[in-house]
Amino acid sequence: MARAPFEIAGNRIAAGCFETVHLPVSILPDHTPVNLSVQVHHGKRPGPTVFVSAAVHGDEVIGVEIVRRLLRAPQLTALRGTLLVVPIVNAFGFLNRSRYLPDRRDLNRCFPGHPSGSLGSRLAHIFLNEVVLRCDAGIDLHSAAIHRTNLPQIRVSPRDKTTMAMAMAFGAPVVLTSALRDGSLRAEAAARGTSVLLYEAGEGLRFDELAVRAGVAGILRVLRSMAMLPAKGIAKAKAAPYLCKSSTWVRAPAGGLLRTFRAEGETVETGEVLASVADPFGEVETEILAPAAGILIGRAILPVVNEGDAVFHLAALSPTAAEDTVEGLAQQLVSDPLFDEDEII
Ligand SMILES: [Zn+2]
Repeated sequence: MARAPFEIAGNRIAAGCFETVHLPVSILPDHTPVNLSVQVHHGKRPGPTVFVSAAVHGDEVIGVEIVRRLLRAPQLTALRGTLLVVPIVNAFGFLNRSRYLPDRRDLNRCFPGHPSGSLGSRLAHIFLNEVVLRCDAGIDLHSAAIHRTNLPQIRVSPRDKTTMAMAMAFGAPVVLTSALRDGSLRAEAAARGTSVLLYEAGEGLRFDELAVRAGVAGILRVLRSMAMLPAKGIAKAKAAPYLCKSSTWVRAPAGGLLRTFRAEGETVETGEVLASVADPFGEVETEILAPAAGILIGRAILPVVNEGDAVFHLAALSPTAAEDTVEGLAQQLVSDPLFDEDEII
């Protein structure tokens, strides 16, 4: 017997077919309609339902390119289960090249949303109910903020075995346990039983070939690990990721011109010189030292800093792949909390 069609917002997608469905969100002031466009790939054979989303933050365009390449992957023709792909969640921010919505709200603080709330709240409500909660799991693609870059990394919730298994299959260089923040997609989805993996890589408003390739390969690996895609043509990750349970920001001790001597992906020891800040006359120069050992998972690219600006994002390396502990989480929350996307606090 043929698999039943997938129904979404009044559309029926037959098994073995794919279709792009446009969910109305709003009308812009100039009368241009705004949709949440979802491409539904409904496999011939049964399996899990998974979403892949990008540009929840409108300027994090790297995820949009990852999605574009994913949809061109020949492996998708052998899909089991159902894949819902949303290249641009926050169309408003994408058009404005901005992280935020037009009213300066952050969509990733608007979940679960409400049909009569703010624009962000309405968009969050549509995305959550029409896409996210229809799925067993999802992968949400992000990048660092503008003028910053991230080593490709996966963020998972503490003590969530499903996302940890997905994270290990993904094969990014780093898996970082990070706390769930109220109002975020990840927190709301987790509370309702959908595991969401967050991929962070590259820089805002730019493509980074390595980060794009790592993203496409990682998504295919996760789908393979869930038996949604065949093993053929999808190689497992060559190296195990670094597992990190806490991270901290290394900040500029003074304003000035920044020269960085270490880059993302490098491991450092306590006291190592990471960068130097000098005044424009070159009279006073201050070194920035690593406050602890760890791996650099993000850094500032702009060579002009104010005192207190986050220059490096340093993650502590776990000696073993030990399971998450309450102590680990508590330590992270105390140190300098990093939540579920690259917001600098
Ligand atoms: Zn983001």
